[in-house]
Amino acid sequence: MSNKEIPYKIYLEENEMPDSWYNVRADMKKKPAPLLNPATLEPLKPEELEPVFCKELVKQELNDTDAYIPIPQEIKDFYKMYRPSPLVRAYCLEKKLGTPAKIYYKFEGNNTSGSHKLNSAIAQAYYAKQQGLKGVTTETGAGQWGTALSMACAYFDLDCKVYMVKVSYEQKPFRREVMRTYGASVTPSPSTTTEVGKKILEEHPGTTGSLGCAISEAVETATKHEGYRYVLGSVLNQVLLHQSVIGLESKIAMDKYGIKPDIIIGCAGGGSNLGGLISPFMGEKLRGEADYHFIAVEPASCPSLTRGKYVYDFCDTGKVCPMAKMYTLGSGFIPSANHAGGLRYHGMSSVVSELYDQGLIEARSVEQTSVFEAAEQFARVEGILPAPESSHAIRVAIDEALKCKETGEEKTILFGLTGTGYFDMVAYEKYNNGEMSDYIPTDKDLEAGFAGLPKQPE
Ligand SMILES: *Cc1c(COP(=O)(O)O)cnc(C)c1O
Repeated sequence: MSNKEIPYKIYLEENEMPDSWYNVRADMKKKPAPLLNPATLEPLKPEELEPVFCKELVKQELNDTDAYIPIPQEIKDFYKMYRPSPLVRAYCLEKKLGTPAKIYYKFEGNNTSGSHKLNSAIAQAYYAKQQGLKGVTTETGAGQWGTALSMACAYFDLDCKVYMVKVSYEQKPFRREVMRTYGASVTPSPSTTTEVGKKILEEHPGTTGSLGCAISEAVETATKHEGYRYVLGSVLNQVLLHQSVIGLESKIAMDKYGIKPDIIIGCAGGGSNLGGLISPFMGEKLRGEADYHFIAVEPASCPSLTRGKYVYDFCDTGKVCPMAKMYTLGSGFIPSANHAGGLRYHGMSSVVSELYDQGLIEARSVEQTSVFEAAEQFARVEGILPAPESSHAIRVAIDEALKCKETGEEKTILFGLTGTGYFDMVAYEKYNNGEMSDYIPTDKDLEAGFAGLPKQPE
């Protein structure tokens, strides 16, 4: 089919969607490091994780051996409401840039939650329902994950308790109201509904909260309420597994037209969309079947891969979660205000961290203003108003396409367009007014975060 004309959008048929998720850990010779119990520094056993996480999800979390895990029919049916997502050939952007590069993007913003996060939310809600639970708890920063989870819980009639970082709760009322419309209860964090919240409020009165703190509150609430478990929207192995649907669909669509990407680019917050997009391609690379250049893009204001340390760290401020080995800036690191709320986490998925450590992924950090320049350029020719997070990937895709313009190389570039930016118009307003600033943490700022790293296991 390689001589076929490539359409602007490749939509797969429903029957071409993947039947299984792909677990890249199965093809990694050196596996990501296991989660540790913060008290004993020993690897966590399933029975220690089950009071916090759903049983089936614990199995997926610890499964380093099965390459394919079947997608249950009910999840496939839900996926059909908004998937397959289009693989778009960015002809208009290529023309505007005057590049010989061929640019493709996988667009995950075509659902009400506006991002890829629904791919894992629906899976996690499904397994909670299967287990007979009453509901789930979670945290949300800017609100994308909370929105996705509230949609998934509404579908399965599960209660959904969301701890929303207080500053977002107050400044982003629209996402909060979308969540409530789907039936979730939304509490600004830190709150007085949990012990950890009360403690944080005592120590830091007037704090506007952080993701790490909201995680601690959500975990405490799950463990204290009968029939509840905690769910997380990124970082964990299970989330990358569910997000592999992005990469699998991309690969099926590209194979159908005989397209082979040279460069694959994703923005990286906790690493779930990047991990999901690259995993089937990474699998080929790990098995020696093909080679690709993978690029993770992170904000210069929260540079966990490019300037972090690869060590065990806490996943949350309250230190109630398992410890994970990851590239991290330290759980106490508070990034300066950066509008890409979804990229402000201090750590990075263990899978992405290990692949990066093995030299299989390149990482780049980019500054906010240049990200919004790329977003504006993209919006004006491709039509879609991108999320600030996604625009990190656009920035590097444009940079790579411009390099091709200089060298004359016709490289094929694939990037993940994770979502739309309609709830980020305050950030766009700042950019349009010329009031956006670029803050890059100094080495001294980073030292403060590293100083809080825990004692490392042997
Ligand atoms: C949450 C989010 C991200 C970052 O999360 P990852 O787990 O790193 O994928 C990126 N883009 C959008 C639109 C998001 O909502």
